[in-house]
Amino acid sequence: DGEPSSSMSRQRVTAKGNSVPAAVESFEELMERYNIPGKLLQNLEASGYGQPTGIQAHGVPILLEHRDLAAISPTGTGKTLSYLLPVFASLGAPSSSSDSEHGQGVRALVLAPTRELAHQIHNECLKLAQGRKWRIVLFSKATAATLADKNAQDKVDIVISTPLRMVAALQSGNLKLSNVRHLVLDEADRMLDPEFLEQIREIIAACSYPRVQKAVFSATLPANAERIAMDMMTNPIRVVVGLKDT
Ligand code: ADP
Ligand code: MG
Repeated sequence: DGEPSSSMSRQRVTAKGNSVPAAVESFEELMERYNIPGKLLQNLEASGYGQPTGIQAHGVPILLEHRDLAAISPTGTGKTLSYLLPVFASLGAPSSSSDSEHGQGVRALVLAPTRELAHQIHNECLKLAQGRKWRIVLFSKATAATLADKNAQDKVDIVISTPLRMVAALQSGNLKLSNVRHLVLDEADRMLDPEFLEQIREIIAACSYPRVQKAVFSATLPANAERIAMDMMTNPIRVVVGLKDT
C-alpha cells in the first residue's frame, strides 16, 4: 500500500498478442486518445495519481479497445486502477441518472478472493466515482438481499464480490448478470485455483452477454492457472511487468 513500488522507468513490460494497442505515457494522452470524460482525469489527480504505472500504461489501452487481457504485475503496481479506469470510461453515463425503467443493470463485475480485497477495490471505485452518480455495490449478504429487488438491481452499475457470495446470489435466482460487459478476476492466481475454479466457471456461465470482456490480474500466474485463463478468453493479450533491479 501507499506509493506504487516503482515508477514506470523501473518497470520492464512485455506485451504479447495480436495487434497490441500502443501504451500511453500519461493519463492526459489516454484522455485524448480515447475521449475519456474529463471528470475521471480530475478524480485521478485528486487521488494523487500523476503518472500511470507500467501495467496502467499498457493495460488501460488494451481494455479500452475491448480486448481480453491477462495482466501479471507485482504487488503494489496499481493493478486495481488498470481495470477500474476502463470500466468507468466505457460504462457511459451513470445509470441512476436516468429513470428506473432505463437502468441497464449490472454491467461490470469484479471478483476478488476475499471480502477484505473486495472492500479495498470498492474503496478505489469510490475515489474514481467522486462527483458522479455511479452505483457501486460491495456484495454482501445484506446488499445481495437488497438487490433481489429487480428495480434496485437495474440501477446498479458495478458489483464487487467474492466468488462464494456471487454464486450464492446466482443460486437464489434473483440476480441477473446477463448485461455484464466487463468481468475482472483480481488475484487471478487464487481465483483459478481449484478452491474457486468451479465457482468462477458458474459465474462466467451466468454472464450471458454475447461479448463479455474478460480480464485477469495477478502478481503471479502459475502455468496451470495461466492456461485456464487463456482458455476462458478470446484473442487475449498477455502483459507481464517485471521490476528492474535498482
Ligand atoms: P496492486 O493491485 O498491483 O497490488 P494497487 O492497485 O492496490 O496495487 O495499488 C497500490 C497502491 O498504489 C494504492 O495505494 C494505489 O492507490 C496506488 N496507485 C495506483 N496507481 C497509482 C498511480 N498511477 N500513481 C500513484 N499511486 C498509484
Ligand atoms: Mg491488487
